[in-house]
Amino acid sequence: MRILVSACLLGLCCRYDGQGRACPGALRLAARHELVPVCPEQLGGLPTPRPPAEIRGERVVSREGTDVTAAFQRGAREALRLCRVMGCDCAVLKANSPSCGRDQVYDGYFTGTLVPGRGVTARLLIAHGIRVLTEEDLTDADGVTGL
Ligand code: SF4
Repeated sequence: MRILVSACLLGLCCRYDGQGRACPGALRLAARHELVPVCPEQLGGLPTPRPPAEIRGERVVSREGTDVTAAFQRGAREALRLCRVMGCDCAVLKANSPSCGRDQVYDGYFTGTLVPGRGVTARLLIAHGIRVLTEEDLTDADGVTGL
């Protein structure tokens, strides 16, 4: 199976410092599946590192108050396009990210809390029938849940 993966889960990039910490579960996944690493924020044209940003309703806003929604949406659309081109019907996305995140969106730079929500890319992929997991789903005894 081909699986789209947040690039930073493989230690390939990180929007904070360029020193991504690889997720052991994602590395184990690579032994069994063909992985397609993507960083939606970079695909959307956001700089690395970018200013902290959080989801507010339907918008994504940076700490300085800049609306970066268009760039996040551009990256999400490109991730979806790659899923289709590469034949990925499953994606493993970093959980705490306003772009990738599936179940929680990290807004720690603003309030220090985790708030319910879904990353822009995760929402788009799910809406188009792509199964989305996070690194937390890669922690069963076999290393991968349901894959
Ligand atoms: Fe990682 Fe996704 Fe953020 Fe890129 S956009 S640094 S892949 S969580």
